[in-house]
Amino acid sequence: MLKIETNTKIVLVLLCISALSIVLHRVGAFKTYFDLLDARHGFSPVPNSLTQIDAIPNARVDYSDGLLRMDCTVVDLEFYRYCGVSIKLNEDPRQGFDFSQYRNILLDVEYIHPDSDQPLLYRPIQMLFRNYNAHYSTVDNNASLKYNSIQLVPTAELLQKPIPIESFQVSTWWINEYEIPYVDAQPDLTNVSLVEIETSGVTKVGRYQITVKKMVLQGNLFSEYNLIKALLLMWLLATLFMVNRQHQILKIMSNRDPLTKVMNRRGLSQWLGRHFEGGPRPCNVVMYYIDIDDFKKINDSYGHVVGDRLLCEFCSVIETELHKLNINEVAGDYLLARLSGDEFSLVFEGLDDEYIELIANKLLERFTDVILVGGLEIKINASVGISKASSETNSSAVLMGNADAAMYHSKKSGKNQYKVFDKDVFEDIVFRKNIASALRESISCDLFSIVLMPIYSSQGLAIRGGEVLIRCQEPSLRRVGPDVFIPIAEEYGLIRDIDAWVIEATFQKIDTNRELYGSRQLLFCINISALELVNKGFPQHLKRLLCKYKINPHWIELELTETSLIDVDEQSIQLLHEIRDLGVRLSLDDFGTGYTAFNQLLNYPVSCLKIDRSFVASLSDLPSSDSTMVDVILGIAESYELNVIAEGVESQAQLEYLQSRQCEYLQGYFLSKPIDWEAFDALLQRQ
Ligand code: C2E
Ligand code: CA
Ligand code: CA
Repeated sequence: MLKIETNTKIVLVLLCISALSIVLHRVGAFKTYFDLLDARHGFSPVPNSLTQIDAIPNARVDYSDGLLRMDCTVVDLEFYRYCGVSIKLNEDPRQGFDFSQYRNILLDVEYIHPDSDQPLLYRPIQMLFRNYNAHYSTVDNNASLKYNSIQLVPTAELLQKPIPIESFQVSTWWINEYEIPYVDAQPDLTNVSLVEIETSGVTKVGRYQITVKKMVLQGNLFSEYNLIKALLLMWLLATLFMVNRQHQILKIMSNRDPLTKVMNRRGLSQWLGRHFEGGPRPCNVVMYYIDIDDFKKINDSYGHVVGDRLLCEFCSVIETELHKLNINEVAGDYLLARLSGDEFSLVFEGLDDEYIELIANKLLERFTDVILVGGLEIKINASVGISKASSETNSSAVLMGNADAAMYHSKKSGKNQYKVFDKDVFEDIVFRKNIASALRESISCDLFSIVLMPIYSSQGLAIRGGEVLIRCQEPSLRRVGPDVFIPIAEEYGLIRDIDAWVIEATFQKIDTNRELYGSRQLLFCINISALELVNKGFPQHLKRLLCKYKINPHWIELELTETSLIDVDEQSIQLLHEIRDLGVRLSLDDFGTGYTAFNQLLNYPVSCLKIDRSFVASLSDLPSSDSTMVDVILGIAESYELNVIAEGVESQAQLEYLQSRQCEYLQGYFLSKPIDWEAFDALLQRQ
């Protein structure tokens, strides 16, 4: 079903209301009239509200059948100004009738000449609708009589006179109608209390008969102008409401994680900002950095929908556990935030030391229990890092960095545990920082070199090629070796430079020994980091180097660890295909150590599996009749028609076992340690 956004709904409803009310106004749904001469309406002109003008002694007023008849004899033209009645619209002269609601006065007056029975064309009478506003209208003030009245001269036909509908317009109306200066024009039609009939225009003495047949006020309940004003006001208010609402939503959205509805990184920063504001004064904040272990595995096994719901459940589980611990009583303010994918942060203000580890233990205990997601029972673990604000840790960035480092420590120490930031973690950070700066120095001063670990065909032990391994002259890097410094290079964003350097250095070596290597059709295996899979420029760079050094792509194999392929998305697979399309081969390094279904990995465009050396090492412990992981991998390789290299051959027994199982290629200290290129060339020539 079509889902309409609330703001759109509001706009549609307003549009309908506006259109409908304008149409209704036009068709007269809001028309109103008031019959001034109808006694049924209560106040006008009931007999006792007719005041006969006593200036005309012979005048006779008769009110019957809703008509007002008046006989008056004018005997002296000089003297008499009035021959008529005042009709009080209200008993209280200060409480008049609001004319400003009406648009027209409709009058039908008949006037008989003294000499004839025929109604006259010339009508010297006028109707005056007078306001009785005490501020500027008095009965005996000529000016007020003039300026606070609507004057009508009835003609032969039913007379219609428009009424100025707004007081402020009345001024203009007066100025236009009577050409009086603005200062004198103060009529106000909201309080008309007298209707008078005046005969000041009479030019003949004699007996006159005046009949007011009809006196009706016509109008709309409200004018179209007012309606439009009201609609515009409604639109303005609605717009303000919608803008405000949108603003609120955006504010909430910008601080909240849309999936789990807990705070996001921004919301956390604001919270921390509030607690750390006021400079380097120590505050009592404790931060837990929580990372779900192997969340990718859950996504892969159950799908992203379940993964997403698990993240929401995970938040509820944390909140429930805190609730069970009566956290509001032991800690001040606290907040849970999702930092990214499966990383969360839990911060407390004023948490006692005894609770810091208690909370961590309770949470980890609860995590190992199953979490129910739509009927599925899912088991998860998490690694937690904890840091506490102190006089040294007086900024939110440092607090977070420390909690993150402690979490990293928990992960490295085997996951599913917590670590409070301490000297060890601090030293680890310092160590990794030092390694990172040594790496930067080695990149800029070109302190790296490459060695080769020969790879042999198992039958006949002829050299098939070599695995390129990086070495570094920089003392601290030489001490720790690539096993340690490569992950740090990845962490500090230095790995792309290193991988690119190794590839180019390898190509240069092949280029200078083209004849020796080319004639033997050797294969050079280069390790690349998993991070290259998200480096869109990598295939192009590889292609440029292949062209620059005129390297036959079939001589090159790139090694990616099996675990690096676990996280790949569509784009990374596309990138693997681009590499393969260059003619470069791909192999899965450390095969067997990952946990993902092998058949899934084998969908990727790889042509070789490298059996991890831990499986080769375990061959020595087994009676030869037992089936080994090596056998399993060899079986997989055979059925998927992939090459196999066994790594880490360290003994005659392992060599013989692998040869007996027809494992195609071998490498390991038993055959050769990593050697420099000159030694490798010498080995080749001896062969
Ligand atoms: P890897 O790709 O599994 O490389 C094999 C490692 O095992 C090498 O260690 C090698 O010296 C060692 N090795 C080979 N045969 C044996 C054996 O029989 N017994 C024992 N105990 N060890 C053996 P190395 O050179 O220290 O490299 C360690 C890791 O560093 C490599 O593991 C690889 O992941 C990474 N690495 C090395 N060079 C590079 C490089 O140029 N680029 C990238 N991205 N990573 C590299
Ligand atoms: Ca390797
Ligand atoms: Ca390996």
